[in-house]
Amino acid sequence: MEVKLRNPDRIVHVRGPMNVAGVLQRLDVNPETVLVISNGELVTKDHVLADDARVEIRPVISGGAGPARCHACSCTSVIEVRRHRSSYCAEHFIDHVRSQVRYAIDHYRMVSYDERILVAVSGGKDSLALWDLLLDMGYRVDGLYVGLGIGSYSDRSEQLVRDFAARCDATLHTVDLATEYGYDIPAATALRRRSSCGVCGLSKRYAFNRAAVERGYDVMATGHNLDDEAATLLGNILRWNTPLLSRQSPCLPAHDGLSRKIKPLYRLGERETAAYCVIKGLDYVVDECPMVAGNTVLRYKDALNELERHSPGTRAAFLFGYLERARDEHFAVTASRGGQVVSCGRCGQPTGVNERDHARPATCAFCRTRERVLVAVADRGAPVVREHARGAGAPA
Ligand code: SF4
Ligand SMILES: [Zn+2]
Ligand SMILES: [Zn+2]
Repeated sequence: MEVKLRNPDRIVHVRGPMNVAGVLQRLDVNPETVLVISNGELVTKDHVLADDARVEIRPVISGGAGPARCHACSCTSVIEVRRHRSSYCAEHFIDHVRSQVRYAIDHYRMVSYDERILVAVSGGKDSLALWDLLLDMGYRVDGLYVGLGIGSYSDRSEQLVRDFAARCDATLHTVDLATEYGYDIPAATALRRRSSCGVCGLSKRYAFNRAAVERGYDVMATGHNLDDEAATLLGNILRWNTPLLSRQSPCLPAHDGLSRKIKPLYRLGERETAAYCVIKGLDYVVDECPMVAGNTVLRYKDALNELERHSPGTRAAFLFGYLERARDEHFAVTASRGGQVVSCGRCGQPTGVNERDHARPATCAFCRTRERVLVAVADRGAPVVREHARGAGAPA
């Protein structure tokens, strides 16, 4: 059979017939980290693949194995969710995903039906699944795409987001970093002491919050899933970063010019959001960002995947235990000690007071980083990406 593997893309041939579990073992692929797709449909570990089958092994990270019958209707399942000890047919898997999102929204009182939501869409599986779910559930939700300027990867991502918006007749806003702020993410490699992913994350958060506030949205939604949140929690605990631990929650209330932030997918693994997209026919970017090497969260994901592989449910127990039993009691208190919030002297967005020098006008982290990137690019003699239409200090 012909087996397509990803990241990097390659084709290998395996003699069939053989069941999915055997193929994965032969190729030394951790079943927790992939979906297996044959003839456009998800298949489980017991499914037997013919010698002439064409198969895709799609990396998603997380998940598992289990019985091959849907736990709700007993028909043939298309996916196992090992931490729930359940398998689902396509229809009941979609029900499962919706019920997890329903629980998340209700439990944290994330949003009401009359509020306007802006969802950050990157073209990846999580954000497109989230936009689709919220639209299906009847919420008033529009999308925001932030153009990072990462070559063909960004071009493809933007096209997929535009296609989705057109197909659903949904409103899409776009912010292009180079046009709005004068730099793109590849330019951030000019900085020596900050990773591109660090600059990227800061830039996306800034552009997203600014767009939400300026366009009058009540709530900002992001596609952070269970794997993302557990990996972030592990990183913050390993460093005992108490300010970040205090802010780690599926729902952060609005304050001081920052919109309410919600993460309705925090109860769903990456494998589940990827499967949701495949079942719903949502096209998303499967390729990894070419600048991912600087992303430290991936290391924590790998560590948790290994634990999950041997003990399904560990990741969920780790995150949910923190949220339910530790955060409010031991860490949330530090949020109220967050210090005074003022307007950034350059862009007007909210920022903390400079602790070391109260006399100096405050400059937000984004404006400071942006200036460093622009100076570093100029020092390197590289052309500045594109002339920017408005500086960070100009009104929207
Ligand atoms: S991998 Fe890093 S640079 Fe690429 S989109 Fe993610 S955060 Fe940005
Ligand atoms: Zn079923
Ligand atoms: Zn600023």
